[in-house]
This record gives sequence, C-alpha cells and structure tokens, in this order.
Amino acid sequence: VENLNKTYRSGNHDLTVLKDVSFEIAEGETFAIVGPSGSGKTTLLGLCAGLDVSQSGNIWLCGQNLTSMTEDERALLRNRHVGFVFQDFQLLPTLTALENVVVPFELQGAGRSSLERGKELLKKVGLGDRFHHYPSQLSGGEQQRVALARAFSNRPSILFADEPTGNLDGETGAKIEQLLFELNKELGTALVIVTHDLELAQKTNRSLRLRSGSMEQMAL
Ligand code: ATP
Repeated sequence: VENLNKTYRSGNHDLTVLKDVSFEIAEGETFAIVGPSGSGKTTLLGLCAGLDVSQSGNIWLCGQNLTSMTEDERALLRNRHVGFVFQDFQLLPTLTALENVVVPFELQGAGRSSLERGKELLKKVGLGDRFHHYPSQLSGGEQQRVALARAFSNRPSILFADEPTGNLDGETGAKIEQLLFELNKELGTALVIVTHDLELAQKTNRSLRLRSGSMEQMAL
C-alpha cells in the first residue's frame, strides 16, 4: 500500500478518511490494523481487499496493481486471491452451512469436487456435524466458523477480517481467533485483522495504528 488517500463524498461534503497511508504485508504474515472508532480501519481493509477504490495511491495485491484495474478485474483478483470475514458473518440465510461454503466455488465452476472441499473445510472449523443447518439454526460462533470456512474456500493468499470476534462472547471469540491463526499456519494465508482488541493485535507479527486516517504507529 503506497501513499493511499481516501475521501468520501456525501452531498456537498468531502470527508477525508485516509491520509497518505503506506505499508507492506509479506506473504503468510499476520497483521493487525487498530485505532479508535472512525479512524478509517474498515475503509482501509475494504480498499486493500479491492472492495472499494481510493482517490490516490497504489495498492498492490499479489503482484498486481489493484488501483489501475476495472471493477471486473478487481472482482476476478478477489475471487482468486482474497478471503474476507465480516463482523456480522454475512451468511446467506436461505442456504445451509455447506451451501454457504460451496457457493463461491460453484460460481467459479468448480463442480462436484466443491462439495467435498466444502465438507472438508467445515470439518476443519469443527462443524462436521452441521452441514445442513441454516444460519438461523447456528450459534453466533458457529456462524462465524461457517464464514471462516467460506473465506478459505478459494484458498486465498490473504484473508481480511473486520472485527471477526467483535460480535462474539470472550470464549467463543478466543476460539475463532485460535482458528484464524491455525489456518494461517496450516495454509500459509496472510492474515489482516481489524480489531479493537489490543491483546489480539499483539498476537500478530506486526500492527498498524490509525488515528483520524493517518498512520500513527507501526509496531513489531
Ligand atoms: P469503527 O471502529 O467504528 O468500525 P473504523 O475505524 O472502521 O470505525 P471507518 O468505518 O473506516 O472507521 O470509517 C471512517 C470514517 O469514514 C467515519 O467517520 C465514517 O463515518 C466515514 N465513512 C465510512 N464509510 C462511509 C461512506 N460510505 N460514506 C461516507 N462516509 C463514510
């Protein structure tokens, strides 16, 4: 990420939420983005994952410059290399746990093997006995585990997680956290976590602190 600036335009007002942000994340690294509410963390994560575009600066993802791409090209790069986990899980309510995990492969035309891989991923997150449950029949922690299995379905090079434990109780959050780090180790997926939890941030290799959109501190 190189000299990134982001301004939101609403009505006559411009709100600059990221100012000259630069950093680098290595392959397989774990990285935290921390900072007060409204400091731009979610905005930064969305830009890095190619979900939004900035006014200036460059973002290189797996060797390709996201900032010079069309929306379709960004979507393709995302499908290939990126996983994303949201604070509120964002599972599709009318699909079972297995279908939620399998949908991304089906979109890529993965065919029959996708079911097997979906089951394997759900087993990996400890939900081998919940394939056919709908999100409403799962606890919050279980829903977040389905979301994690889904995020890993395309074997991403990098996983972006926005407050992945924010809606969970301490114990359940700790399990999700553990799972994230296990998957990082096992699959070599780089992990970028937005969090208010400084203890979680300290468990990552490095962290970036934002204040009012500016980088305040990079810590080892
Ligand atoms: P929190 O910790 O509370 O989730 P954050 O650090 O993730 O906050 P962002 O969600 O990135 O902060 O928001 C940064 C600023 O940008 C906030 O002031 C917010 O009101 C503003 N903002 C976010 N999204 C938009 C948008 N789509 N349009 C206009 N302003 C926005």
